Amino acid sequence: MRYVSTRGGSEPIGFADALLAGLADDGGLYLPEVWPKLPDMVQLRGKPYAEIAVEVMWPYVEGEIDRAVFESIVTDAYSTFEDSRVCPVVPLGTTATGAPLWLLELFHGPTLAFKDVALQLVGRLFDHFLRERGERVCILGATSGDTGSAAIDSVVGREAIDIFILFPDGRVSDVQRRQMTTVDSPNVHAVSVKGNFDDCQDLVKAAFSDVEFRNRVHLSAVNSINWARVMAQIVYYVTAALEVNGAQEPVSFCVPTGNFGNILAGWVAKQMGLPVDRLVVASNSNDILTRFFTTGTMEIHEVVPTTSPSMDIQISSNLERLLFEVLGRDGAVVAQMMSGFRSDGTTSVDVAILESLRSEFDARRVEESEVESTIRRVHDETGMVIDPHTAIGVNAAVKSIGADTTPVIALATAHPAKFPDAVKAALGRAPEVPERLAGVFDLPERMTAIDNDVDAVKNLILERLIP
Ligand SMILES: *Cc1c(COP(=O)(O)O)cnc(C)c1O
Repeated sequence: MRYVSTRGGSEPIGFADALLAGLADDGGLYLPEVWPKLPDMVQLRGKPYAEIAVEVMWPYVEGEIDRAVFESIVTDAYSTFEDSRVCPVVPLGTTATGAPLWLLELFHGPTLAFKDVALQLVGRLFDHFLRERGERVCILGATSGDTGSAAIDSVVGREAIDIFILFPDGRVSDVQRRQMTTVDSPNVHAVSVKGNFDDCQDLVKAAFSDVEFRNRVHLSAVNSINWARVMAQIVYYVTAALEVNGAQEPVSFCVPTGNFGNILAGWVAKQMGLPVDRLVVASNSNDILTRFFTTGTMEIHEVVPTTSPSMDIQISSNLERLLFEVLGRDGAVVAQMMSGFRSDGTTSVDVAILESLRSEFDARRVEESEVESTIRRVHDETGMVIDPHTAIGVNAAVKSIGADTTPVIALATAHPAKFPDAVKAALGRAPEVPERLAGVFDLPERMTAIDNDVDAVKNLILERLIP
């Protein structure tokens, strides 16, 4: 399999190169030249998660890694999950129109958010290919909360990797910050930036666009622009559909969305042949995606802080992969659109493109006031405690799908213990703290604070890099 850039200005490359590069030289995102077909669903049903994962991902890595090695990496990655089913599906009643509603629990990994599903694998793949090549990298990433700790956990102590994670000062929850700052390892650097998440993401992009610097420190990325993360996320759409109806009839998915990475993987699963009806984009008050899927215009507004901080984003990077596809895989058109968006803060697709997007995606904004009531209602009806991000997805799922009986699977993206304040506000008591999290409240924090300035980022990396 070869990987092409969404902006058409980089040579096609293989999986390992796309993994290690993250972003393409032309500023675009890598995606496969063609969508491979899924294996026969009847064969997969009932198999362990890791086995299905290998089957689903194999066409994307074939030729670059030995099959037995890949199997052992995948098995090892998912053995870190607390639940042996890795990403279990549980019933959650019905939608407003009476369709069966399910919850896909993606938070059983080491840092209790869905980012672990991809990053536990990606960290190990990095390590494998770097050791094979005798190389080192410096991973630079931005986090709105959960990516940072998941990325750090996946590379802690690995000799071939240094990691610098930028997070917006005061905009991540206490638990999220502590999960990053309490890791005591010489290759781990948590960096607090005076700005918001989009500023952090812009700093990362600016550092990457300095080619001389990038080559000098072997910069690499594991944020959701990395193709391998999308690849790993395809798997749970398949296992969830298998669990709900054997993947013989369509299901719909409802996904609380920020960077569009998670839901994009659902769309890829559909391209690979999974019977998917609707894909529902659930936004919080930072609703650029809902506005885009409704009007065809993408327009940046101010980021407003919410109780679901991992979705407090205005620029949804992964949307570029979907646009590339719906614009006929014309990299020049995508490049032009993205540069217009950067300079004007707005860009549009024409009516025909909007129609084709709307034939697959629904989009819904969920208000802050609805988050608490959803957490409370789910608890009253099922006894389950959900986190605010999950509540946004569940709220949209209940309301969104028209009069039909297709099962709807809402994605639970974080464990409620990561967001105790919002849960406490809704239920009057904080969620139970799982053992995995208990330590972070006692350990000392280590972090560096910097200004929203790319030179500050570069200087810090040069200073700290293990020679
Ligand atoms: C990252 C994250 C999201 C948003 O996922 P995207 O892939 O950026 O759309 C939603 N919920 C939680 C808990 C997250 O950590």
